[in-house]
Amino acid sequence: MSREIRPVCQTASYTLRIDPSELQIVSWPDPRLRTRATHVPSAEEVSLVAPRMIELMHEASGIGLAAPQVGLPWRMFVTYVPDEDPIDRVFVNPSVRLDLCGLSPQPYEEGCLSLHDLRLDILRPKGASISATGADGCPFELYDAGLLARVWQHEFDHLEGRLIFDLAQPVDGSIVKRWRKVYDAQ
Ligand SMILES: [Zn+2]
Repeated sequence: MSREIRPVCQTASYTLRIDPSELQIVSWPDPRLRTRATHVPSAEEVSLVAPRMIELMHEASGIGLAAPQVGLPWRMFVTYVPDEDPIDRVFVNPSVRLDLCGLSPQPYEEGCLSLHDLRLDILRPKGASISATGADGCPFELYDAGLLARVWQHEFDHLEGRLIFDLAQPVDGSIVKRWRKVYDAQ
């Protein structure tokens, strides 16, 4: 059987390699969750992968999913937050500016689609503004001082290879220790 050989250029390398239907959510201790995402996806790459990420996020009843969670070191995440922002939103190459809103960082219980059975109270600044490029290729900026600001911070952390147990409060140290004893080995 012959196989077509096509020249591969740098910018097209990912799109030629990826079958979106094969992407799945990866779980700890997959090392790709620890890799800082460095690749800013092209419009073509976004149109190929973002719909699949959105599909996986909904299948898992999640409110956010970052590209490293499907094994791609790309600076991109998707969100769908039912009450606050009920649309499938794509953030490409986001930057986040934190806003304490005059308060100390606030606790809120977080889980993660890549960390099974782990929920932790995480302290984060209450507000954040985010600028990014959307699925349509247009830049946009948003501000929130509630759940959305938290989701953006959580998903942005994935692009830096940072996970919620890195941010656990000392009081939850034993929970993290027990969880990692089980899951680090899997
Ligand atoms: Zn997560």
